[in-house]
Amino acid sequence: MAVLPILSYPDPRLRTIAAPVKEVDAEIKTLISDMIETMYAADGIGLAASQVDRHIQLIVMDLSENRDTPMVFINPKVTPLVEEKQPYEEGCLSVPDVYDKVERPSKVRIEALDADGEPIDEIAEGLLAVCIQHEMDHLNGVIFVDYLSRLKQTRARDKVKKVLKIREKQSQQAAKQPEATNV
Ligand code: ZN
Repeated sequence: MAVLPILSYPDPRLRTIAAPVKEVDAEIKTLISDMIETMYAADGIGLAASQVDRHIQLIVMDLSENRDTPMVFINPKVTPLVEEKQPYEEGCLSVPDVYDKVERPSKVRIEALDADGEPIDEIAEGLLAVCIQHEMDHLNGVIFVDYLSRLKQTRARDKVKKVLKIREKQSQQAAKQPEATNV
């Protein structure tokens, strides 16, 4: 397993439309494991393949408290079941440290394949409904900040730039200093 680099907003590669997965083969299974590891390493609850620069219809998620119940959605189709939209404070691993309210239908049907290629057909509400719609957007090249005002999009862009700079500095410093010994 490997931790994959995550693309950051406004990287144009995040706008790529994902193609359907043709077969759940060994290569896809490796990517699934890597994406789950990447999601955990980044402390996220969901990750779309688009975010790791693989433009196929694949999403991983873990909404459990103990972070031990990964879910996999291949070739997902999400259908809203209600007109009513609910606001939810969203964040995204591709837009670090930016959070804002997005309104989405509160109840959806999810049809997909799981990691074994078996069909999933379930009704989702609450956080699962929010998360699957957020990840579906990634597969369609949409990022949650697209729903926000121009001003907020500009601010998000600046914030991400800042965060990336700080992270780069931190990793340079970490590389310079000898590894601390844990006793
Ligand atoms: Zn996201």
